[in-house]
Amino acid sequence: MANTELSLDAEKSANPENPSSAELPESMMDLLQEVHVLRLPMVTRFRGITEREVLLFEGPNGWAEFSPFTEYGTAESSRWLRAALEFAGHLPPHPGTAAVPGAEASGHLGESFVAINATLPACATSEVEAILSRFGPVGTVKAKVAEHGIDSLPADLERLREFRRLFPTATLRLDANAGYSVPEALTACAEFAHFDLQYFEQPVAAVEDMARLRQALSERGLPVVLAADESIRKADDPLRVAELGAAEVVIVKVQPLGGIAAARSVIEACGLPAVVSSALESSVGLAAGAHLAASLPRTDRSLEILGENPACGLGTARLFGEDVVAEEKSLSPVDGRIPVTRIVPDPKRLEALAVDPGRFAWWSDRLQACWTHLRPQV
Ligand SMILES: [Mg+2]
Repeated sequence: MANTELSLDAEKSANPENPSSAELPESMMDLLQEVHVLRLPMVTRFRGITEREVLLFEGPNGWAEFSPFTEYGTAESSRWLRAALEFAGHLPPHPGTAAVPGAEASGHLGESFVAINATLPACATSEVEAILSRFGPVGTVKAKVAEHGIDSLPADLERLREFRRLFPTATLRLDANAGYSVPEALTACAEFAHFDLQYFEQPVAAVEDMARLRQALSERGLPVVLAADESIRKADDPLRVAELGAAEVVIVKVQPLGGIAAARSVIEACGLPAVVSSALESSVGLAAGAHLAASLPRTDRSLEILGENPACGLGTARLFGEDVVAEEKSLSPVDGRIPVTRIVPDPKRLEALAVDPGRFAWWSDRLQACWTHLRPQV
């Protein structure tokens, strides 16, 4: 099935220049005209998946991506849709939020590149140098730890010692993906504190446990800054993290928070330094992340913890075997950074990577269900 078969009469479309809820059509396809659903193979299994399905469309301001994970329900996924519609220019920013920097031409932004962290997976110590050398100059590295919980600690420490031997001045972050209990995290932090960490992402799962851990670290005088990642999945989560004192840094993603403007507003409201990360998107989705990252305020606290040019977790294009554009036009990091730009997919790739008609129908239904949920709120 050609994606264009869903295209409907252009005359029925809402005015994208100034849409209001009353003018927005009930049918998503009356607004979007044409969508593409692609299946992107992953180079390595990540988050339990080996391929990623993404829906792309073009709006007045450019291309945007709608790619909630397939198991997500309608209410949650509709926030991802708001983000995509806003970045494409089909929707104004969420009421009460700041203007959308990403909706303007990227030339309006003060910076044209954002720094990207390299990722060091749980690998053999002998592989550390080779893995990081593929990334280019090593500025900031995020090392994954706790793959098998506290049992991984001896191997994690050996790998970190090798890392510090090779890169004594690089900025180091750790990410446990909630792999520890609070007592285990305390044991691990007592060791990790020797490695001059910038911060430690989500050592434990529950936001209340993050707060408990932070308190215990402070009582023991362990200088480990905590960052909340998995604790933040929707727009008011950063506020809860701040209220509970669960972390000093928040990791934010554009789509789950409902768009660039909503993300900026919640970051301002929670008052914590933020690091932008990807939701495993194609280069089209990564572009929205880069726009958010380039527009974040540099507060005193942000400068203190993250420095002048905080690295973002937007280097995930390398996890994919295929992208929507050729490698040199993609948002794969070069020299540890990516440009703040908009991506126009290659038409041949849109065709070659298209899903089968069954999956296209599934995504079309999902898109409409999310729009039906979202439309009364915009
Ligand atoms: Mg993380």
